[in-house]
Formats: sequence, C-alpha cells, structure tokens
Amino acid sequence: MLRSLLLTASASPRCKGFVEHSRLSRPVVARFVAGNDLDQAIAAARAVVTDRFASLDLLGEATVHRAAADRTAQSYVALVHRIGAEGLAGRVEVSVKLTALGLALPDGRGIALEHAREVCAAARDAGTTVTVDMEQYPYVDATLQTVRELRADFPDVGAVLQAYLRRTEADCRDLSGPSSRIRLCKGAYDEGASVAFRSRAQVDGSYRRCLRILMSGKGYPMVATHDPALITFAGELAEAYGRDRSEFEHQMLYGIRPRAQTTLAATGLRVRVYIPFGNAWYPYFMRRLGERPANLAFFLRSFAPGGRG
Ligand SMILES: Cc1cc2nc3c(=O)[nH]c(=O)nc-3n(C[C@H](O)[C@H](O)[C@H](O)COP(=O)(O)OP(=O)(O)OC[C@H]3O[C@@H](n4cnc5c(N)ncnc54)[C@H](O)[C@@H]3O)c2cc1C
Repeated sequence: MLRSLLLTASASPRCKGFVEHSRLSRPVVARFVAGNDLDQAIAAARAVVTDRFASLDLLGEATVHRAAADRTAQSYVALVHRIGAEGLAGRVEVSVKLTALGLALPDGRGIALEHAREVCAAARDAGTTVTVDMEQYPYVDATLQTVRELRADFPDVGAVLQAYLRRTEADCRDLSGPSSRIRLCKGAYDEGASVAFRSRAQVDGSYRRCLRILMSGKGYPMVATHDPALITFAGELAEAYGRDRSEFEHQMLYGIRPRAQTTLAATGLRVRVYIPFGNAWYPYFMRRLGERPANLAFFLRSFAPGGRG
C-alpha cells in the first residue's frame, strides 16, 4: 500500500517539484545517489573497487524529447570513455535504461536501439560492458528484443529479469544460454496482479525458481538482491551446480547494506555495486523509499522541526 503510494508519487510532477527543490532532501538522497556529476561517480566507483566491482548508472528515464535521448547517449559514451581512461574498465561497467535512450518516444524502439549500439560500441572500445536495466511491464518485450539484437554484435550485453513477473521463469529459460549475463532482481515497479506476483512470499518463491534456472544454465547469473535468505540460497545453488566463484556475482545498490557487501566480498565472492549518479534522481529515490518503510520515516523526520538539516 505504502509502496504503491510512493510509486504513484514517483510519477507526480507536484511531488517531484517539492522533493527535488527541498534542501532538506539532499542528505537523505546522498545515501542512495553518488553525486550529480561524472567526477563524483568516478570517485564513488574508485572507493568501491578496492574490494568490489561497480556498475555506473546515469540517472534518467522516460525521456519524452528526442534531443534529451541524444544527449543521454552522448553522456553514456563519455562515461565509458572515462571509465577506460581511468583504468577502471576491468571492474566498472555501466547500466542503462532504454527509456533514457528514447524507447518511450514515438518510434522509440529504433531510436533506443541505435543509441544503445553507440554506447555498446564505445564500451567495447573502452574494454567494459553494458547491462540494460528492466523497467515497467509495457517495456519488457521491447527491452528483451533490443537486448537480443544488441547481442548479435555485442554478446556480453547484460539483461535484467524481474522475479515478480509471472513470465520471468520462461524468460530465464530463454536467456540462460552460454555466456548470457542475466541480472535477476525482484522488480521495483507497481505491476498489476494479472502480470505480477503481489505477495512477498510469491515473489521470493519466483526468485528462487528463476535463480535455480539461471544457476543450472550456461549463462552468468548476477544475483541482484539484498535479501539475506536469497543470498544464502544463491550460494547453495552455486555449490549444487558446481559453479565456482568466477561464474556468478552478487549485486547490490549503492548505500544499501554496505556492510553486507564488504562482508560477502571478503569471503572471495564477486560483489558488484550499482552506483547511480546525476540530477534526475527523483524516481529512483522514490523507489528506494518505497522498498523500506524505515527509509520513508527517516526522510520525513528530516522535514520535522529540529530534524536533520
Ligand atoms: C544491482 C541491482 C540492480 C537492480 N536493477 C533493477 C532493474 O533493472 N529493474 C528493476 O525493476 N529493479 C531493479 N533493482 C531493484 C530490485 O528489483 C528491488 O526493488 C530491490 O533490490 C529491493 O529488493 P531486494 O531483492 O533487495 O529485497 P527486499 O525484500 O526488498 O529487501 C531485502 C532487505 O534488503 C534491504 N533493503 C532492500 N531495499 C532497501 C532499501 N531501499 N533501503 C534500505 N534497505 C533495503 C532491507 O534490509 C531488506 O529487508 C535492482 C536491484 C539491484 C540490487
């Protein structure tokens, strides 16, 4: 209920204006977002790669202007050049949302595909990789089709599947072929019961079934969850299917369970941190608030008289 409300607010221009322009939001946002510009993002990645890996995400989504989609593609090209120039390509990749590259525009699939190709080509030149984030349900087919087309030229492009969707077990089977990089997450949007599991138990059950398909397959599973029970389950599956530590990775978000990240990495497991940066943090931030009531309470307290400035 609370999560649905916050996800609705994440699309509301009035809430956006209020939250974005409040000076009081900044310290809370800073927990989840590495900074506004490329220098801050690179600094955050440098701090992470001492023991983990990173995926940098230039925040932005649901672009409705062609010029903005073009600019985002150019910014991603600059980002992967910088990753290469900084000598970080072995440990830092990028994550990109196709709606930031134009997917939501009229005839957007062609525009997003073209832009994604430019980003993938620049990433290959720089020695790094791209993972295509998954967004709301109406974009799932177009996103997976785009990933398939990208993989014809760039086989290491990562895809994301959301365990809350009823279709995802079948997508896992389709996509678990040799060297296929698949990030499995629970899913961050507010989807209806006709297409998605709505209870926590159902989503977790689906996550387990999907993860078993990926771990028993021939691809490279990227286990994107902070859920301790699922992280343990991933380890059990890896052992059961004889995967060594270089044959899968854990992924978590910047600012969430950082101690668990470093503890896992210290055991020799590969851990990648998804690091978002940029000015367009509002929808990402609202999704993070919605995932945990304590985050919202912390945020609201910062507005109270005498609250944290
Ligand atoms: C690397 C990565 C990439 C992702 N990419 C996508 C994507 O492309 N598309 C998509 O739809 N979703 C994506 N997600 C988000 C994901 O779908 C979930 O919404 C999110 O990860 C929360 O689910 P959980 O698996 O951590 O489990 P939960 O059951 O939500 O959380 C388990 C525990 O983790 C901690 N936790 C979780 N979320 C928070 C939070 N916001 N603040 C504080 N603590 C928290 C809490 O301790 C909680 O008890 C991604 C997640 C990760 C980690």
